Amino acid sequence: LVSRDFHPDHTIVDVAGVKIGEGQRPVVVAGPCAVESEEQIMKTARFVKQAGADLLRGGAFKPRTGPHTFQGMREEGLKLLAKAREATGLPIVTEVMSPDNVGLVAEYADLLQVGARNMQNFDLLRELGKIRTPVLLKRGMSATIEEFLAAAEYILAEGNEQVILCERGIRTFETATRNTLDLAMVPLVKEMTHLPVMVDPSHATGKRSLVPPMSRAALVAGAHGVLVEVHPEPEKALSDGPQSLTFDGFERLMADMVRLRAYL
Ligand code: PEP
Ligand code: MN
Repeated sequence: LVSRDFHPDHTIVDVAGVKIGEGQRPVVVAGPCAVESEEQIMKTARFVKQAGADLLRGGAFKPRTGPHTFQGMREEGLKLLAKAREATGLPIVTEVMSPDNVGLVAEYADLLQVGARNMQNFDLLRELGKIRTPVLLKRGMSATIEEFLAAAEYILAEGNEQVILCERGIRTFETATRNTLDLAMVPLVKEMTHLPVMVDPSHATGKRSLVPPMSRAALVAGAHGVLVEVHPEPEKALSDGPQSLTFDGFERLMADMVRLRAYL
């Protein structure tokens, strides 16, 4: 079902009116790793909106590596995201971690994110296949492209074709960057499937200074959008501060994206 062999036309995913896919203007999804407070999310939402972002991201349910760190504001975080959408008009992207929460998160989200750690949570994928909210499926940190596409297949097999694939870096021997950004997967996956492909250079590199060059590279490689973390005070962020762009940094990135889009 994900293969282009049987589906030569590219799928366009419609996220509350924002169209993502081949032939569409590449989109920019921006926002903090996690929703931390009303002030933080409202401030960020307003800023990224005026700078030109298309969608607002923010985690309410956070898949943290250890249990003693900030786990997210959960439903309260979802309510704050809805408030930020109301204030800015930006559709919202947020993660759902368990099949039991699909109904709850889908009440708020315009695009449901499956994180790298849950790429092969098959019950979650099946549950997401049964609803009609679009899904942003992130590549597992050690997943091959074949495994990644097989995970997407689970969602399509249940009837939901609105799936975006997102490269977010994979584990390799290299430790100088948080993960290794597999940019070649972008043109490859576009040959293999009809689904839109996005790139998350924040989690792929783990380092703020690398986010703008890798965002540019993603667009040139043919990505249908980028997903970047932005925080009003990255040094105080409860998660992923080192890879989060400042407001100034995001404004510069957007200027690059606008210039590049004029060529693509
Ligand atoms: C995130 O987007 O904040 C996140 C946890 O990403 P990933 O699942 O790619 O690590
Ligand atoms: Mn993050």
